[in-house]
Amino acid sequence: MGCIYLFVYRKVLTTEKLLALVSMYPWNLAAILIQAYAPEYLVEMFMNTISFVLVVNIVQRPEEQINPTVGIQSHIAYMSDMKKAFALNKPVQILLVKILNHQALLNILGYDTFNSLLKKFAGKIQSCFGGKGSPCGFYYLENGLFAVTSENVSSSFFKIPAQKISEMITDSIQMGKLDVELNGCICVFNCPQDFDEYDKMLSFLNTFYTYFPAKGSVTYLEELQEKQKAELRMRNEINGIVSKAIAENRFEMYYQPIYSVREKRFLSAEALIRLYDENYGFISPELFIKAAEKTGTILQIGEFVLDSVCRFAAECSRTGLPIDYIELNLSMKQCMQNDLTEKVLYYIEKYNIKPEQLNLEVTETAANTAQDIVAANMCELSKHNITFSLDDYGTGYSNFSRITELPFHIVKIDKSMADKVFDKTMKTILKYNIQLLKEIGMEILVEGVETEDMFKQFKEMGCDYIQGYYFSRPLPKNEFVEFIKSRQ
Ligand code: C2E
Ligand code: MG
Ligand code: MG
Repeated sequence: MGCIYLFVYRKVLTTEKLLALVSMYPWNLAAILIQAYAPEYLVEMFMNTISFVLVVNIVQRPEEQINPTVGIQSHIAYMSDMKKAFALNKPVQILLVKILNHQALLNILGYDTFNSLLKKFAGKIQSCFGGKGSPCGFYYLENGLFAVTSENVSSSFFKIPAQKISEMITDSIQMGKLDVELNGCICVFNCPQDFDEYDKMLSFLNTFYTYFPAKGSVTYLEELQEKQKAELRMRNEINGIVSKAIAENRFEMYYQPIYSVREKRFLSAEALIRLYDENYGFISPELFIKAAEKTGTILQIGEFVLDSVCRFAAECSRTGLPIDYIELNLSMKQCMQNDLTEKVLYYIEKYNIKPEQLNLEVTETAANTAQDIVAANMCELSKHNITFSLDDYGTGYSNFSRITELPFHIVKIDKSMADKVFDKTMKTILKYNIQLLKEIGMEILVEGVETEDMFKQFKEMGCDYIQGYYFSRPLPKNEFVEFIKSRQ
């Protein structure tokens, strides 16, 4: 029986556990043989004892199975149970609850109260399924993520408990004298129906809450429209899609014209990367850049961007296209590279362009996250006459002393802020922000200008550059060249 079990579960066990279990057979067999010939030595009993010690210490480790702070099963137990279910092709229904504000709550409440909160919440989830005697599995998967699994895959089975959990999230939870508000997202799905592979299911755990609505709403995967399912699959497979695109060199640079109010002409352009996937169409850079940033492939993408933009800048000066410089976006990881300066200078030399033909966009978050290395990179590059723009101004908390410390020339006001120009209060805020930034020596560029009205408003406020659909969307290289020629 032992041999059969070992064979069936061989893929589920780690090598260490498998070796411990398999090694019991030759030892015990040898002990039986010895004892058959010399019954006065209790060798078999001795080997049994050793085997039990091995099983208890290596194979069966209860502290791995239960999360001691939350009091339900741990993520290790979840992974091994799910591996088992996939290996045996056993259908499971899974409910996930993600507390989205868990980091903020941890910061406010401190470890002890936060852990009590998790424990209380875990108990409440259990009670929604009928308490500890329930046939479901309850797991805490770290970082505010809970899972409940059931072998009952009927679609109505999780309906009422999911609703109860949703109400629990909408109401606040009392922790002594504190009223704690949770912000959570709930999702119900089936395996292998929705995810036919263990790894796909695992990567879904890390992404589902970025796509579904928060505030306690429940999403049933089986009820989603085909289009939403495709988007979900794409988000789940994004890392694979990006690696494939890098291997097949399938990225392309688009260019969006930037208008200079003073010179009344298109003076520069922002280079924006595009990825077309044969299964999912155009994928937003916001999505794949974020994913590439996490996996580190962003550095390869960054080199592609640098190479393409420098090549295009050389083409512009060779053909006499009146574009003074091209802005390119630097990702956070690129800004942190200690050989960034050499890399940029390498491409400038390779295509024989002037450093003034490049302008690098750095976001506020990048500038604030890795302060020293980013500041060192920026100072080094500006010594070589490369200029910088501060991207996405207005989306975070601006640190003015930080902005003035770094060699920025241009501040790019984000679309989300620019859109509010018709609101009276926001218009005042924008006006004085622009005035203040100009007074400390910055030039102002507004992004996302879509209408003539917006264009006029920002021109009146003294903005230097305008970028947006009002003039043109980002265009493939050839169309961009045509656009500039026709507007010359
Ligand atoms: P960003 O650098 O702030 O780029 C501006 C975004 O606003 C672009 O979106 C552009 O297409 C869009 N946009 C411009 N004018 C308008 C308008 O009038 N209306 C609307 N609705 N949108 C407008 P896109 O191309 O989707 O890029 C999104 C973000 O992805 C960029 O934000 C940037 O952070 C990142 N990104 C794009 N290309 C690259 C790249 O080559 N490297 C890196 N590291 N990041 C990139
Ligand atoms: Mg940008
Ligand atoms: Mg921007």
